[in-house]
Amino acid sequence: MKQNITGGGWGLNRVPSNILSLVSSVLTLFGGVALTVTLFTSKVPDGAGALTSLGSPLFALLIAAVMIAITVISPMLSNKAGSYLAKNVDDHNMGNRFFGFFGFLGFHPEYAMDMRMYRFDKVCEKYNSKKDGVFSSHGIFARYARGPMGLYKAASSAVSVIFTGVVYAFVCLKAWAGAFGLGAVTQYVASVTRLSGSVGGIISTLGDMRNNAPFLELTFRFLDIPNNMYRGSLTVEKRRDRKYEVEFRDVSFRYPGSENYALRHVNMKFEIGRRLAVVGENGSGKTTFIKLLCRLYDPTEGEILLNGIDIRKYNYDEYMSIFSVVFQDFRLFAFPLGENVAARADYDESLARDCLEKAGFGERLRELPDGLGTYLYKDYDKDGVNVSGGEAQKIAIARALYKDAPFIILDEPTAALDPVAEAEIYSKFNDIAGDKTAIYISHRLSSCKFCDEIAVFCDGSVIQQGTHEALLDDEGGKYRELWLAQAQYYTEA
Ligand code: ADP
Repeated sequence: MKQNITGGGWGLNRVPSNILSLVSSVLTLFGGVALTVTLFTSKVPDGAGALTSLGSPLFALLIAAVMIAITVISPMLSNKAGSYLAKNVDDHNMGNRFFGFFGFLGFHPEYAMDMRMYRFDKVCEKYNSKKDGVFSSHGIFARYARGPMGLYKAASSAVSVIFTGVVYAFVCLKAWAGAFGLGAVTQYVASVTRLSGSVGGIISTLGDMRNNAPFLELTFRFLDIPNNMYRGSLTVEKRRDRKYEVEFRDVSFRYPGSENYALRHVNMKFEIGRRLAVVGENGSGKTTFIKLLCRLYDPTEGEILLNGIDIRKYNYDEYMSIFSVVFQDFRLFAFPLGENVAARADYDESLARDCLEKAGFGERLRELPDGLGTYLYKDYDKDGVNVSGGEAQKIAIARALYKDAPFIILDEPTAALDPVAEAEIYSKFNDIAGDKTAIYISHRLSSCKFCDEIAVFCDGSVIQQGTHEALLDDEGGKYRELWLAQAQYYTEA
């Protein structure tokens, strides 16, 4: 969207600046008129010879008409030049997308290593150095610039220079003829130029708005997309006892535009304070299940209930407040560590410290030069610290703990941790989850043993549910199959 609407300064951002310049031009117009009137009305004394006619009302009208015409023509020519961009808005936006994408890929630190190792800059270069690219030397806009667009622009500038010449000639001649003193020359030249500038400003801004309209179309099409997600207004009851019961009742789900069901007839009740592990192979629907629980999507069929009421009926923000989630692709920010944990600038330091301790980051925290005030990464502060993937995951877990929501959801929370750190998190898991209802997604089955219950997903359905021991005893079951497949890597060595 950004690449589509901001190219060359066109699009939504241009609207407020257009309005501002329109208002300022109108105000300048009034001032300009007030200061200029006497230029036209001042009489030339008799005896100025041929110059006497400069003071006649007819001549004043004539010269005013010429000035107005020139004032109007210049911005109209400039707008005509701009219209070549507006007429080719699709080419312009597409060119801007390529430029915005390939032109700046090398700026992202996260791509830097692969970029250098495999010379991906060559791919970017291929796109950026295309001679017939939209903005390149043989591209459509370069052709226009060398042709009609350039001519209109040049004509516009030429006309505005002619205007200045006419103004100087008229004002100086009138002063020469004795209509006013020499000191008034600069005042009149300035006021006429401002007056003409304001009229020109109004015309060019109106033209610019018209040229900008095609660039806004996409933004309005985007804004017109209806929000199909129903947002209720029911408040979520605040319960000290954290007795929030969530139930999936025959839930099926298809991603928008997809033919296939990502979830099929899922029935599940989260028992308060219990730890549920969700396991299954890649693509079996685990993440989709969590996305539905967090209302990032609504079920295609069936319903999800919170304390017996369809979650759609709740106020969305209130509903979200009962979940702390550590997504697989979570992000930390280049803020101080404490602000990352608390997700706010004013926070309870001892609580933040406690959460980091629980998540296994305590030792590292004590080594940090500014403790909780240490900036993460170098984007904001050159003395910021870079953290490893595993450390980042611990901070993300601490952030989920700080929120202290009744439900804690960990999506593959230990994928980036080394085996020692992973074992440390598991051993602390009960402590971490406390009295919360915990949902734990993993495809590393060994990490789910400590959960009260395990749900096994396969092709979008829950095919088994029970304790680790019960599921392992099920000879033909998927869980046992997955367990044995993973266990062999550890036992054969
Ligand atoms: P898991 O978390 O178990 O790896 P997912 O829930 O991510 O599985 O995916 C379940 C199914 O939904 C897969 O077939 C996947 O291809 C599909 N899917 C996931 N995300 C999308 C999406 N945004 N659009 C369309 N299909 C998707």
